[in-house]
Amino acid sequence: MSRVNTVLGPIPTEELGLVAVHEHIGYGMPGSELDTKWWKSPEQRYEETVPKLRQFHDHGGGTFVDATGICNGRDVDYYKSLSAKTGVHIVASTGFVGGDTALPFFARASVEYLAEHFIHEITVGIGNTGSRAGVIKVGVSRGGRMTDLDKRIYRAAARAALTTGVPVLTHLAIDAETAIAIFIAEGLPLDRVLFGHVDDGVNADKTRDTWIAEQGGRVGFDTFGYETELPDPPFWARPRKERLDHFLRFIGQHLDKALASADANCSPLGWAGVQGHTVNYIFEDLIPDLRAAGLDEAAIKTIFVDNPADFLTIQN
Ligand SMILES: [Zn+2]
Repeated sequence: MSRVNTVLGPIPTEELGLVAVHEHIGYGMPGSELDTKWWKSPEQRYEETVPKLRQFHDHGGGTFVDATGICNGRDVDYYKSLSAKTGVHIVASTGFVGGDTALPFFARASVEYLAEHFIHEITVGIGNTGSRAGVIKVGVSRGGRMTDLDKRIYRAAARAALTTGVPVLTHLAIDAETAIAIFIAEGLPLDRVLFGHVDDGVNADKTRDTWIAEQGGRVGFDTFGYETELPDPPFWARPRKERLDHFLRFIGQHLDKALASADANCSPLGWAGVQGHTVNYIFEDLIPDLRAAGLDEAAIKTIFVDNPADFLTIQN
C-alpha cells in the first residue's frame, strides 16, 4: 500500500486530498523561542493557528506539509493536537531550512551523523512524539551559493531519502547545478526532489526552473501570495501578475513537474510575519486566478493533488 507519514501516523496516499506542499505552522530563527518579547504562550499559538487550519479544511484542503524542520520552531506534539482538532493531515519535516539555520551542534556534524539522524526521525520518530517525518528539508544558505555545510546536509538528505523512500524538499533552487550533482553522485532520482522557491521576487531571475525540470526535478512555485500589492510586502515579494504569468509559462511546458504553495506562517515565531497572507491564499486567490487564466479542473487537480501525492508517497 502506498502511504505517507503524517504526525498522527502513516496514511494511504489517496487520503491526502488537496495538498499545500510548502507551509509553516510556525517558523522562527533558531533562538527566537528565547526572546521573551516574542515568546507566545500555547494559547496564543492555538488561537492564531486553529482558525486558519479550520478554514483550510472547510475550503477542501486535505494536507498541510510543514516545511520547518529542525531548529526553526518545529513542535510535533503541538502539530498532533492541531491535526486532531482540525482534521487537517499535517506532514512534519526532518532536515534543516538551510545550513545557516542549523545550530552549532548540527553544523559541526558529519554527513554520516546527519543522515542517521534524518533516518531516525523518519523511521523511528521525532523525539518522543512517536511521529515520523514525511519529508526531508534542505536549503541554500544566504549568499546565493551552497556552503560546505549546505552540501553536507544535501548529501545526508540524499542518503536518508534513498534509505527511507521519503522525498527531499529544498529552500531555494538557486545553485541547482551543485545540488543536482550531489543528488546524482548519491544515486537519488531527481523526481524525489522538489526544488522550491523558484518564484520569489529575489530569486526568480536566478533560478533555472525549466532546466531543473528537464533534469527530472520537481519545481515548486511555493511563495504564492507574497505580493508587492500587500500593505506591507516583504523583501521577497513580487507583483501578483508577474508570478502568475511565470507559473503559467512553466506549466505550459512541465505541468507534471509543477507544485504550488503559499509558504505562509500560521503563527510566526520571533517576528511579526507578513500581514494578510495565509495558506488559504491557495483557495481564495490562486485557484481562482488559475481558473480565470483558463486552466481546467484536471490541471488544477494535477498541481494540487496528483503531483504532491506522487512526490510524498514513500518509495519502497
Ligand atoms: Zn518555507
